[in-house]
Amino acid sequence: MSNKWGIPKEVEILVKQRDTECIYCGVKFDINNSSRKDKPTWEHIINDIRINNVENIALCCLSCNASKGAKLLVNWLESDYCKRKNIQKNSVANVVKLAISKMKVKKL
Ligand SMILES: [Zn+2]
Repeated sequence: MSNKWGIPKEVEILVKQRDTECIYCGVKFDINNSSRKDKPTWEHIINDIRINNVENIALCCLSCNASKGAKLLVNWLESDYCKRKNIQKNSVANVVKLAISKMKVKKL
C-alpha cells in the first residue's frame, strides 16, 4: 500500500514521526497552521522516485522544495537560496548528512 506519491505507508509513518521540522532549513511544521510556508512536502533527497526508503524520503517545507526542484542536493546547497537561509552541509538534518556522505563515497 502506498500513498498518492508512491511512498509506502510504513515509510510515510516513520518519516512523519522523524521529520517534525524541515530537513533543510529546520522550520517547524505545525499541523494546525495552514500557512503554505510551514507546510510539509514530500521530498526525495536523491532525486530518484524509485528510491522510496526512509533514507531518501523526507519532509521539507514548501519553499525549500520549490527552490531545490530537480537540482542535485550538493549543487542546491551552493545556491543563493541556501546561502540566504544559511543552509549548509552541516546544518541540515541527519538524514540529509547521511545522503551527502554516501554521495561522497560513490564519487571515490
Ligand atoms: Zn525548509
